[in-house]
Amino acid sequence: MTLKTFKLRIYPNVTQRIQFERNFGMCRFVWNELLNMQTKRHENGGKYLNEFKMNYLLKPLKQEYPWLKEADATSLLGVSHNLHLAFQKLFKEHAGYPKFKAKRFARPAYRSNAVNGNIVLVDDAHIRLPKVGVITFRAGQLPDGKIKTATVVRSRTGKYYVLVVAEVEVAAWHKTKALAGIDMGIADLAITSDGKKYATKRFDKALARKRHYWEKRLARRRRQAEKEIAWDKQLKVSAPRQLSDFKNYMKAKTMVAKYGEKVANQRRDYLQKISTELVSKYDVIKLEDLKTKGLLRNHNLARAIANQSWRELRLMLEYKAAWYGKQVVVVSPYKTSQRCSACGYDDGKHELEVREWTCPQCHSHHDRDINAAKNILAA
Ligand SMILES: [Zn+2]
Repeated sequence: MTLKTFKLRIYPNVTQRIQFERNFGMCRFVWNELLNMQTKRHENGGKYLNEFKMNYLLKPLKQEYPWLKEADATSLLGVSHNLHLAFQKLFKEHAGYPKFKAKRFARPAYRSNAVNGNIVLVDDAHIRLPKVGVITFRAGQLPDGKIKTATVVRSRTGKYYVLVVAEVEVAAWHKTKALAGIDMGIADLAITSDGKKYATKRFDKALARKRHYWEKRLARRRRQAEKEIAWDKQLKVSAPRQLSDFKNYMKAKTMVAKYGEKVANQRRDYLQKISTELVSKYDVIKLEDLKTKGLLRNHNLARAIANQSWRELRLMLEYKAAWYGKQVVVVSPYKTSQRCSACGYDDGKHELEVREWTCPQCHSHHDRDINAAKNILAA
């Protein structure tokens, strides 16, 4: 049994949309209340309250703020769960102190837990969610298995999605008895030890012109709006306008966000395709630990983008391998791009522009990246 996430685009009616927005707000409110309470407690020398004890506090909180009862109750339990995780990160990994959620910056989302059949897939186009009832959806893949949670989110362009996590039985894919080492690069995103290269695609470049068009408009409209707001204030208008009152500005803002989402979606689709192909083709996939690549902190845009793709691809390979009964191994081989994969001879450091080289000891001719992938496989 494994957990699998299904992303459904949902089409709420007005009432449902209002309920979503209220639930987002109520979860944010509870987060801030609980965080404030933990902080005050700590200042007064009190001990940290764990998830269970925070859950217990939800009852008096609902008595003090009766409108909280309109939220899906399990989503508030989700808040104390998340806050507990944030504190665990602080205690164990020395992550930063959990932050208060401001309306403007908080990600609009809440998670419902499945209890007593409150989350039900009605048919292949309708799902029932707690407090909002039956809602229409469209999905790439229909959820199956036992539903555990459902997270409602609103994207930056105002679309609603629900991420359904279900326990599914995944049949292992047939074994191919093939192994591969995979090198991750800049010009080519992934290179396999048997010589296949997956090119890096710059989806951001394809949309850059259109995006830039809207970015320019966004900046200009923002300046204009700010000017007008300043006039309102000078004239002491009783209700000075806010940025959100400027329709043209808001439209440009949505358009910029839309291109950002498009790029992210295209990249994800591409990585999904590559990861599925690799996991179906090989039983064991060896990857180089990215830390050893020494490229992690880099201000170069191409590398920053490559970095992001490597991380996403690695995550996809790992969870797909887990679903389908394959294996991903992360290795830290030594000098992958300068050692000959045929005889092990160390040819010294090759600059990045050296794409091919011949081993002086065994005279093998190497493609730099494929040689690196072979070394990763051998590690
Ligand atoms: Zn050699």
